[in-house]
Amino acid sequence: MLMNLSGRTALVTGGSRGIGRAIVCSLAEAGAKVAFVYQSNRDAADKLATEQTALGRDVIALQADVSKKDEADAVVEQVLAKWEKIDILVNNAGIIRDKPILAMSSEDWQSVIDTNLTSVFNFCQAVVRPMMQARYGRIINMSSVSADFSNPGQANYAASKAGIEGFSRCMATEYAKRGITVNCVAPGFIETDMTVAVVNLAGDKIKNAIPVKRLGKPEDISYAVLFLAASEASYITGQVIKVDGGLTLGGMG
Ligand code: NAP
Repeated sequence: MLMNLSGRTALVTGGSRGIGRAIVCSLAEAGAKVAFVYQSNRDAADKLATEQTALGRDVIALQADVSKKDEADAVVEQVLAKWEKIDILVNNAGIIRDKPILAMSSEDWQSVIDTNLTSVFNFCQAVVRPMMQARYGRIINMSSVSADFSNPGQANYAASKAGIEGFSRCMATEYAKRGITVNCVAPGFIETDMTVAVVNLAGDKIKNAIPVKRLGKPEDISYAVLFLAASEASYITGQVIKVDGGLTLGGMG
């Protein structure tokens, strides 16, 4: 069976809601044991872990702030203590604090950089040694079309996502010969809590700008992650896969 993750273990950040939740479900459905990190929404996290466990899947929730190195290290240690290895890391946790640059506070800037970008460094560095020892690893980092598509008010977010893509290319080169692949998925407009305000304001306008004429669903992203997380994707590394319904193609349709 293609993309069978039985025997694999995965760690997903920001797994309690939205895209991360769909990733947890897809990886667990494919047979992986999945630990996911949430920050504050304990009810959503517990509900997901309970639902997945009831389906006979091995899914656990861990609370941490991904922007803090010591908390990332502690999460990785807990997962290694429980399952002995981490085959798949999905750095998905992210936030937005959209404002024009003149109105952007240092806190708006730093919190987005720390949560979106520093977290990727924190978790990648924590898992790379055990992945090297296993001579196997699949790392998928969540970027965004905002990395190279200019949205006014998103300077902090765009910088964090462009940073993720540059970081991922370097890491891919450093660890390719160890059996570790590092790729990014760059979603377009996906219907989650993160986009609810903008969709309420301009949903139809956005749909019209997307060649496939619909907003994305979290599962549109989780299936791309599932593919990159499988052993079959061993010849793909350092890449960014846009999953955006054609939004960034720049056509007239
Ligand atoms: P979301 O619905 O707002 O969910 C965010 C998730 O990240 C939640 O699980 C949240 O945990 C977690 N999180 C946030 N800050 C955290 C922290 N400091 N430590 C630990 N966990 C933290 O977001 P989403 O729309 O699913 O987005 C997921 C990823 O896709 C993000 O990286 C985002 O930038 C990217 N993306 C989204 C879109 C889109 O259209 N939605 C487009 C492009 C890229 P709690 O539940 O505990 O708060």
